[in-house]
Amino acid sequence: MDASANPSTAPSCHAMSARNPFDRIFRNAVTRSSPTPVDIGVSGGRIAAIAPHLACEAAEIDIGGRLVLPGFVDSHIHLDKACLLGRCGHVQGSLKDAIAAVATMKRDFTVEDVYARGARVIERAIVHGTTRMRTHVEIDPRIGLRSFAAIKALKRDYAWAIDLSLCVFPQEGLTNDPGADELLVEALRDGAGVIGGCPYTDTDPHAQIKRIFDLAQEFDLDVDFHLDFDLDPSWSHMEEVCRQTDQRNYHGRVAIGHATKLSALPPERLRAATARLAQAGVAVTVLPATDLYLMGRDATHNAPRGLTMAHKLVEGGVLCSVATNNVLNPFTPFGDASLLRMANFYANVAQAGVSEFETCLDLVTDLPARLLNLGAYGIVVGNPADLVVLDTNSGPNAIAELPDLLAGFKRGRQVFERRPPVLFKPA
Ligand SMILES: [Zn+2]
Repeated sequence: MDASANPSTAPSCHAMSARNPFDRIFRNAVTRSSPTPVDIGVSGGRIAAIAPHLACEAAEIDIGGRLVLPGFVDSHIHLDKACLLGRCGHVQGSLKDAIAAVATMKRDFTVEDVYARGARVIERAIVHGTTRMRTHVEIDPRIGLRSFAAIKALKRDYAWAIDLSLCVFPQEGLTNDPGADELLVEALRDGAGVIGGCPYTDTDPHAQIKRIFDLAQEFDLDVDFHLDFDLDPSWSHMEEVCRQTDQRNYHGRVAIGHATKLSALPPERLRAATARLAQAGVAVTVLPATDLYLMGRDATHNAPRGLTMAHKLVEGGVLCSVATNNVLNPFTPFGDASLLRMANFYANVAQAGVSEFETCLDLVTDLPARLLNLGAYGIVVGNPADLVVLDTNSGPNAIAELPDLLAGFKRGRQVFERRPPVLFKPA
């Protein structure tokens, strides 16, 4: 949770030596830790003071008692394979069909093509208030390092609005795909920030998990696996990931995405799995749009949701997030990169109660910020002034009402504006 500074210790104009201590003051802002409106003073791109009334002359923005958040954090998205609907004759199919469809299209991806599609999604994410994002990038002999080069350029070109981190991974197998390992190492040498894996597409899943951990340790990187993606509770690679995490003392540095099997576990087994994940410090990212679209397809009626209950795992001490995953492709033919919409969607499908809405908002803000291990997140003095303004007055209302996002700021600089709709009532 974000936290306001103690008003009595907040600097004022007179207490500070500079003539203009603040570049900008946000007035009358409600934060999740302060339902009473406060002023937020920004200097040099950082939050310099938080107090009920900052007496100072600086450029002002009146927030009008609305909610300000430190931006949404998307812990799992695929920019490289977004926006492909126009080019594939997509027939509703299984996970395997989706992987095969993208594998075919991937051969024709160019750097410019990946850049253009990724930029389209990043710009949607920015105007929906996302300030940090981890994108997975596929690396294998078919695509080579073309997607990686494009996403690196996006990271550089959109740094004014979003902190992008790159997680490179082999989507179609590692130990069974000659050349993939060498390319992965090349990407790691060339600045990839995180390493991922996808053991369920490997002929030797445990060997892949071991190799990914070996590389993570060699390059001192966090790990983010696409783990199980089915509803069969009779087997799982989760224990192997937890075991390797323990063995390598990697607690707090490992995440698993989807983990849909957890949704198929009866209560006692789920309790045991929750305790194991919490003990190993392995985080779980739930991807509602894709999980709901691809799971339970064999059912002729009463189809299972196939959605892991992230907010319940949080109660059990597991670090969790809810994220976007795919946008407009065979895995998920929907998407606008809005994490507030995704949190609302998750809360609805997960049947979250009103008392759980705060946690649902945590799942797209504070918790993924912790999962990404980037630090300096939240409306706290000293942190970067990453702020988004919502047209509502509390965290729970943000989940319930899906309010408009009116403005966003990255390191104190405004990056977007959205004007509220105007009704033209008859006179
Ligand atoms: Zn994914």
